[in-house]
Amino acid sequence: MIEGWGVEQREADTWGVHLLDAAKQGLDPNHAVAHAGTPLRAGQVAECGDKPHFPMSQAVSASSIPNIRCTGQAPLPTVHGEFLAQVYQCEGEALEHMVLSLGLDQPAAAGTLGGVLLRMHSECATGDLFGSLRCDCGPQLSLALERIAKEGRGLLIYLRGHEGRGIGLAQKLAAYQLQDRGLDTVDANRALGHPVDSRDYGVAVAILQQLGFRSVRLMSNNPRKAAALESAGIDVLERSAHEVPAQSHNRRYLQTKHQRMGHFLTPIL
Ligand SMILES: [Zn+2]
Repeated sequence: MIEGWGVEQREADTWGVHLLDAAKQGLDPNHAVAHAGTPLRAGQVAECGDKPHFPMSQAVSASSIPNIRCTGQAPLPTVHGEFLAQVYQCEGEALEHMVLSLGLDQPAAAGTLGGVLLRMHSECATGDLFGSLRCDCGPQLSLALERIAKEGRGLLIYLRGHEGRGIGLAQKLAAYQLQDRGLDTVDANRALGHPVDSRDYGVAVAILQQLGFRSVRLMSNNPRKAAALESAGIDVLERSAHEVPAQSHNRRYLQTKHQRMGHFLTPIL
């Protein structure tokens, strides 16, 4: 079975507009993205916001999977390759989540899009934008895009609202102050009255469902991310280690993630 976007191969001939083509043609993004399950007539394209097609789970419950809508898209050339950039928003929310995909503009059977290389990347302004050495986010983001480009197929979901594992940017900086006074990242969050990790992956699940994926190969060291997908009915065929070299500023942070949060990281001496 050919893998790609949303309709069965036998319907491919009637498929009028593929994602990247649609973006290049400047079409309304809400009419440019196909999803799994609905045969399309010639020239017809699917809505972004149709219902999910996968069974829900205990850990990521149906109620926590939001209604989402694709609100913008365009080709995005990067130093790693040319991606299709898409913005998704949850109903009633202003946050703009971003998806960068590559090599996925082929039609395929409903719910058969599998084994795609995926990075669910949590927003980290300090690391992703400013090159902070306190964490490993920036290098992980670059590595993910590099790996997707090298494979020629995959997607990165950039999850907004995940700063500081969900506590927000200001509280993340407050946690940094506590870390400079001796607390580790787990205890710093707790000292501020926050959960150790309050990130929710319902948006990512909704995006994957809408794009028709039933299975992924996840680039992550975090067992919670794989569990969230599995519990929502998306098979994680492989958890692919996504480690970047430690350095003096983030060594303790990575040790804590390994020792106290169960992340799959090479033990650091
Ligand atoms: Zn970070």
